[in-house]
Amino acid sequence: MSSQAVDDYAVEQTLEEVSIAYRLQHMELKCEGEPFDLRRYPYLIAPYDDDSDDIVMRKGGQMGMTILCVLRTIMRCKYMYPRGVLYLMPTKDDVSDFSKGRFDRIMRENPKLAAMVSGTDAAHIKRIGNALVYFRGVKSRSQLKSIPVDGIVYDEYDEMDMSMVALADKRLDGSSFQHRFKISTPTIPEFGIDWDYLQSDQKVWKIKCQHCNHWTCMELSFPDCLLRLKDNNVIRCCVKCKKKIDPINGEWVATQPGKSSSGYWVSQLNSDRKSPKIILDDYENPRTVISEFYNHRLAMSYADLDDLLDDKALNACCRDDFREPQSTSETVMGADVGKNDIHYVIARKVSPSNLMTLDYAKLVDGDSGTAFEQLHDKIIRYNVKRCVIDEMAETRSVREFKDNHPEVAGCWYNPSQRKEYDWNYHTQTVTVNRTESLDASHRAITRTEVTFPRPDEGWKGFCQQMKNLARQRITDDKTGQSKVVWVVRGVKNDHFRHAWNYLCISASDAPVSSGAPGGRRRSKLVKRPGSFMSA
Ligand SMILES: [Zn+2]
Repeated sequence: MSSQAVDDYAVEQTLEEVSIAYRLQHMELKCEGEPFDLRRYPYLIAPYDDDSDDIVMRKGGQMGMTILCVLRTIMRCKYMYPRGVLYLMPTKDDVSDFSKGRFDRIMRENPKLAAMVSGTDAAHIKRIGNALVYFRGVKSRSQLKSIPVDGIVYDEYDEMDMSMVALADKRLDGSSFQHRFKISTPTIPEFGIDWDYLQSDQKVWKIKCQHCNHWTCMELSFPDCLLRLKDNNVIRCCVKCKKKIDPINGEWVATQPGKSSSGYWVSQLNSDRKSPKIILDDYENPRTVISEFYNHRLAMSYADLDDLLDDKALNACCRDDFREPQSTSETVMGADVGKNDIHYVIARKVSPSNLMTLDYAKLVDGDSGTAFEQLHDKIIRYNVKRCVIDEMAETRSVREFKDNHPEVAGCWYNPSQRKEYDWNYHTQTVTVNRTESLDASHRAITRTEVTFPRPDEGWKGFCQQMKNLARQRITDDKTGQSKVVWVVRGVKNDHFRHAWNYLCISASDAPVSSGAPGGRRRSKLVKRPGSFMSA
């Protein structure tokens, strides 16, 4: 939409239908000391008036998007919603900071807006017309109960606990709108806002060159869309003729039209708050943290091998020979228990720091017995001497199984457990720190301390699940310190990854298997220090 589009946009509409962007543009608002002027941010016009049920905005850092979320919320409560909006932030502290700081400042700067809002003394609830806006931290389950609303804003979606997001979604039940607006700086690939954007129509901002009429999308053509001039200044340029282009001559283009959710990709490349020179200098600076550059400047997800397994890393662990159907020498096992199925992985410990995977599969309740009966057969057939099973999900059935299997230990996660795994042979349990154990079982693969059987028809599905967990750095609410968590990407399907984790925990408590060959790796073995033994 061009710079005049704000005005043009409204001409085609009746007075009742007049756009929110048009109304706001003509309210002469101020925004943190500066006049609110959508002509400077033409890419924000469409999001203000987008009436899709699901809107996803994958954005860069410090883009001034809070004002969009707040104004959009106020205008929708005033003119559209009978019940109101649940405005969610990651934590309660975020809500307090926001409410006392930014929201109140916007109200002070804009008497016209403040006149629409009552109950401004109450920090976490505002009345606008007949509708209410509830500002809530997503951490607290009780804060999300019994609030009927028409719309939910998820501000910094990637920092939210996804089980709480599902709980919050229920607040829309019974509304005739059911509008969800998710906005976040992305973190890791196919997680959170990145996953949702990939399911959407994936709109990108395309800029028309005033010289050659070619359309350039800055995000899709970075870094070719930036040009350093002789005087060291940097301009946004047409990828075809290399002349200067201006984001105000742009429009949103859906790269996956026909999808029901509406997705926007808003990076710093189009922002008039961030000069192209700062962005290119940062990109060319060898000290720049690459993940932060991608996430904050380009609004793109990013992960390296420390955070996320890929096919290359998994394939590098494959050997020439096939799965073994049984074993006479001792083996170790890990199993992830579901409602009607069990995923297991079996390996031989061939050296203090090397594992040779013999078999992996999913057992399902059926003609060949219950999944637990089939697991028992595997334990006998493979001479399993140590087995770790997730005890947290299906506690009763796992305890029953343990009664007849002294080699089996139930695994419990405890966030305050440090370094060593805590084995209790009397209760047949092992307590581990989830993050540290997942780190260790991840490293076993990236350091190629493990071999897998030659890829067969089961390999692709195994790899998919192994890749479905990723390492994410988040801020701890209590301490304010940065911490690491392993999160599920996309659709939850990570059973083999957990079975693999339990296997590595098993192996840490088992001796090296006697008298069995280790099997040859296909690609060259790269030995690095450390092992899965140490968490
Ligand atoms: Zn051009």
